[in-house]
Amino acid sequence: MDVVDPSLTPKPKAPLRVMSGMRVTGALHLGHYFGAIKNWLKLQDQHPCYFGLMDWHGMTTAYKQTAEIDHWTRDMLADWLAWGIDPDKCILFIQSRVPEHLELFMIFANLTPMGWLERVPTWKDAVEEAKQNDTHNLGRFAYPVLQAADVALYRGALIPVGADQVSHLELTREIIRRLNHLYKAKLPEPQPLLTENPLVPGLDGRKMSKSYHNSLLMAEEEKELRKKVNQMITDTQRVRREDPGEPERCTVFTYHKLFSSLEDQAWATVGCRSAGIGCGDCKARLYENINRLIAPARERKKDLLNNPQHLDSIIESGCAKARTEAQKTLRDVRERMKFHSAGRLWF
Ligand code: SF4
Repeated sequence: MDVVDPSLTPKPKAPLRVMSGMRVTGALHLGHYFGAIKNWLKLQDQHPCYFGLMDWHGMTTAYKQTAEIDHWTRDMLADWLAWGIDPDKCILFIQSRVPEHLELFMIFANLTPMGWLERVPTWKDAVEEAKQNDTHNLGRFAYPVLQAADVALYRGALIPVGADQVSHLELTREIIRRLNHLYKAKLPEPQPLLTENPLVPGLDGRKMSKSYHNSLLMAEEEKELRKKVNQMITDTQRVRREDPGEPERCTVFTYHKLFSSLEDQAWATVGCRSAGIGCGDCKARLYENINRLIAPARERKKDLLNNPQHLDSIIESGCAKARTEAQKTLRDVRERMKFHSAGRLWF
């Protein structure tokens, strides 16, 4: 039998740490499921994961509704858990409960030139909307700096993003690189972890968004779900029942591709193009398929919200673990900056 010298055996590489979060804005919709939760469910089995309920980010646009933010945060946590995010596999925390986010944000803010933020495409796109909604504020302008702090605080190495968001991560990388360069720090520059991020249209065919009132919630009640599916825009060129239609022009069919079996998709395609089915039949089948997927999570969410102590204990434990990591990073950064280093009191 061969004897293997253990010192010569390459150590298996530890899986890289994943950091992600969600801005707290109210009830989650199916765009959140396909854009994040579905990927997180896989990642939590493969990597150490930090998932944050980002309430400071929520406040950038909801600063006039601060009384709602606690409720939204709990609701969001209940959604995550109901859909299978497991606190025994990953660390779940509330951003504002880990004050080091703001401390690192302040350090990063000072070394981020204004020009870097002015070039952020999402800011350029949002300026007019922000002015109209009275959210043309410093918090919203500087949110990419806070995002960089969120990632760096947990030394996140992999950030799940869709292909269209890779450029957003570049600013985070630039800020971290600058800090590393100035202070000889060693925070990892995060890499994008490309994830499937299918486009989920709203009921009216535009992007699904709370502000457009066109969302299907992750915990939508049956009656409301049926009503919303019936409101979905179909192929506008199919005017009468006997007219053939084209599924690729239809929002209902986009949803079939996300929620229905291949058999049901084929049934809708053939039936639509031959006028063998009506839009009512097609929507009824879609409603059944969506409801089958979301009904168990909807019930689990109700149970979770009826058990506030259980939610509290999950979040207490997650925040404590997150804070321990955050403090470690902050201590290291301050020591490298020679700024209020551990154990020295300046005043
Ligand atoms: S039959 Fe279905 S796919 Fe065709 S237009 Fe109607 S709802 Fe859309």
